[in-house]
This record gives sequence, C-alpha cells and structure tokens, in this order.
Amino acid sequence: MLSNLIRQGIKPTPLIVCAGGTSSRCAADGLWTVDLRARHRQLIINEEREEVEVGTGLTMAEVLQGLQPRGRSIPVGLSTIPGCGFVLTGGIGPLTRSQGLALDHIVGLCGVWGNGNIFDLSAPTNPASPGTASKNETHQQWKGLLGAAPFLAVVTAIRLRTQKLTPLVIWRSVCSVQQLEIAIEAAETWEHSASLQWAWNDNIELFITCCADDPAAMEAMQSLRTHLGYCPESSMAIVAGQHAQPAFGTMARAADPQERIHSEVISRLGPAWGQRLPSLMADLKELMNNRPHAGCQISAQQLGGASAQIPVSRTSFIHRNAIWKPWINATWMACDAKGQESALAWLMRANNLLSDYCPGVHLAQIHPHLSCHHQELNDAFKNWLPGLKHLKSHLDPYGLLPPL
Ligand SMILES: Cc1cc2nc3c(=O)[nH]c(=O)nc-3n(C[C@H](O)[C@H](O)[C@H](O)COP(=O)(O)OP(=O)(O)OC[C@H]3O[C@@H](n4cnc5c(N)ncnc54)[C@H](O)[C@@H]3O)c2cc1C
Repeated sequence: MLSNLIRQGIKPTPLIVCAGGTSSRCAADGLWTVDLRARHRQLIINEEREEVEVGTGLTMAEVLQGLQPRGRSIPVGLSTIPGCGFVLTGGIGPLTRSQGLALDHIVGLCGVWGNGNIFDLSAPTNPASPGTASKNETHQQWKGLLGAAPFLAVVTAIRLRTQKLTPLVIWRSVCSVQQLEIAIEAAETWEHSASLQWAWNDNIELFITCCADDPAAMEAMQSLRTHLGYCPESSMAIVAGQHAQPAFGTMARAADPQERIHSEVISRLGPAWGQRLPSLMADLKELMNNRPHAGCQISAQQLGGASAQIPVSRTSFIHRNAIWKPWINATWMACDAKGQESALAWLMRANNLLSDYCPGVHLAQIHPHLSCHHQELNDAFKNWLPGLKHLKSHLDPYGLLPPL
C-alpha cells in the first residue's frame, strides 16, 4: 500500500516519516507524514537464531518489554522513549562500548525505497569480498540503509540480533567542573564495559554504567568514586537491564520547566580529548554561563570499544574512531520568536566550538530546515557522501525523502 502511494506521487515533498515521533521532524507544517506507529507494530522473536523482528512503529521500551520475559535484550539509548529512528540512525547507549551500536545488531531490513520499490534485505555474509555487479549494488544499498536510511527509504521492519539480558550497575552523582574533568580523563583509559555519560545544566550530572558481571569495570567505577570523594547526591544501583535504568539528566536540572518548551538538538562525534580537555572544559563553562534559556544543556555519552571494531566501510556510521558523542540541546519557550532566535544562535555557536574537538556529526536528528544542514551532512558522512548521493539518485530520484 505504501509502495502504491509513493508510486502515485506525493506532493509536496519531503514526505515525513514518524517512527517513535520523538524528533522535531516527525511532522511539519504543510507536509505529509507516514505514521508507522499505527500499522507496523509486530514483534516476532526467533529464539533459535536469537533474533527479533521489530515493526518500526514500536518504541524501544516496547521492544525491551517484549524481549525481557525471554531473557533477551537489545542495546538501547539513555531513554527508551525513542522509536526505530534510534536504531536506524546509529543508536548509541550505555552498552555501546560492550555490545556495539544498536545499528550493529541489524541483520535484516524491509521497507520501500523512495522510488516506490519494495525491498527485503539481509546482512551480506561476506561484505569485503568482490562479487557480481548486482551483489555489489545490494552491499551498497545495505551500507546506505545502516545509518542513512531516512534519506533513502521508509523502513517498515528491522530484524535484530539480540543479547542476553544482563544486570547493570548505574552510579549517578553531581559534580564540579574539575571533577567532570577527572571523570572524563579516567573514562578515556577504560578498556571494559564501563561508560561515562554526563549532562551539564544547572548542575553537572555524572551517569556511569557497567555490566554487573564485569569486575574490572566495577573496580574502575569504585576507584573513580573514591577519587572524586563524598557527595550527598551520589547513588549506586543495580538494575535488571536497560528497561529499568533510571532517567538520565534529572540530577542536572534544579527544577523541571513549567512552561511549554521547544528545542533543537545537534550531536557531534569525536576521538578522545586527551590534552585538549582543559581547554574544552573552559569553552563549555563559558557556553553554559551564557545559555539563553534554562533548558539549554550540553551532555555527552561515551562510545568506542565494541563500536570501534566494525570496519568503517561496512555502514554509513563512519565515525568508528569516536569515543565521545556530545550533544547540544537548545531550548526556548513555545511561541517566543526572540527566544528561539537566541537559542538557535547559541546552538550554532556551541556547534562551531564543539566541531573543533569533535569533527564528526551523529545524524540522530536531521535539520533540513537549519542553515547547518549541508555542513552536518558533510561532517556525518565525509568521503561516503558522494556514494550516498549516487544511491539516492537511483533509490529516491524525485527527492521524496529529506535532501542529501
Ligand atoms: C528522550 C530522548 C533520548 C534519546 N537518547 C538517545 C541516546 O541515548 N542515543 C542516541 O543515539 N540517540 C538518542 N536520542 C536520539 C534519537 O535516537 C533520534 O532522535 C531518533 O531519530 C529518534 O527516532 P524516533 O523514531 O523516536 O523519532 P521520529 O521523530 O519518529 O523519527 C526521526 C526521523 O528518523 C527517520 N526515521 C524514523 N524511522 C524511520 C523509518 N522507519 N524509515 C525511514 N526513516 C525513519 C525520519 O527521517 C524521521 O523523521 C534520543 C532522543 C530522545 C527524544
């Protein structure tokens, strides 16, 4: 049905796709939205293969809920609210360092290309080996879908490898700028399942996780705790899995905003900060001291480890050397045009500044409506962008989906 609709032609373009509906691009004035949440809700578990087929209308919370009784899971982000847009755009979370990106778990994809053709693809068995022209074409399509699907297709179902459900240790605390620097410095030496997430708002929140069955990670966490010293807000918990993880970022805010707020988010990717950490901290401090709205926040999550093991050539998530994903959340009060202008100016300034430390972009949010869109595409896909454009010229020749 979707294929027929697309073939008949949809105007105006781009067609907006809503999976979880958590981004500012799940609907837009004057444009059509395909809302996957109504029809694509299947969750089919294949216990023998340790795989699950997920309709792209499900949220991550619903996927985890379906898998949990079988003792299985997939690595999700810091919140389980997002939908399958999370998986298709990379999917970075507290378990990325030990289990890889959510996207690295994809073994099959079904959907409709922007040209109306239906596809049902499985992960190539030997992606590196040269093959026939048609096999190479399928490999390129697969690579395009893993990390750049929103520009090429509407994905209706994803088959994912599952993981054994493992308890997690989560340590949350608030800290000073100096303590954040110490925590980042320590985290950059970690070679186990521990990962550091932080959020900088009214306070700085540390959110450190590791697998409960990883003694080396537990020891590193404990040693950092001792190093940072006593903090009354500090709490350590063991949870059964990511479905039970506490909300990230709540300790960073002094109070929840009472007003209705709008926001834009830009996420960057970069290597270890090492010697440049003091200057980054000074820059962040200046940005946070001059944020235009109380909701404006800078946060970061740690990747590397398992996510760095996948060859760059295999997916459109090319920043495999990235250790940090900082993201900037710019907020303003709904209907406050002046507030929006200052928040977006702050966002651009923060983005420019962070791009020096983190040259890559994680395109978890697409911004065709913002001036930085083209630079973001370049920073997200670098040398692979021409290949993606070539794919798009065949698979979405009339620009049904967001522009590349
Ligand atoms: C509370 C919260 C926490 C988050 N935490 C993390 C995190 O820890 N790690 C992380 O990596 N990201 C995180 N994100 C970012 C999130 O993964 C992205 O914003 C993602 O795109 C959201 O997908 P969605 O399906 O919920 O949103 P939607 O708004 O429905 O989709 C976003 C866009 O993705 C594309 N898209 C979605 N589904 C499809 C599909 N089936 N076929 C083709 N295109 C599609 C479309 O362009 C769509 O407009 C978080 C976001 C929120 C709101």
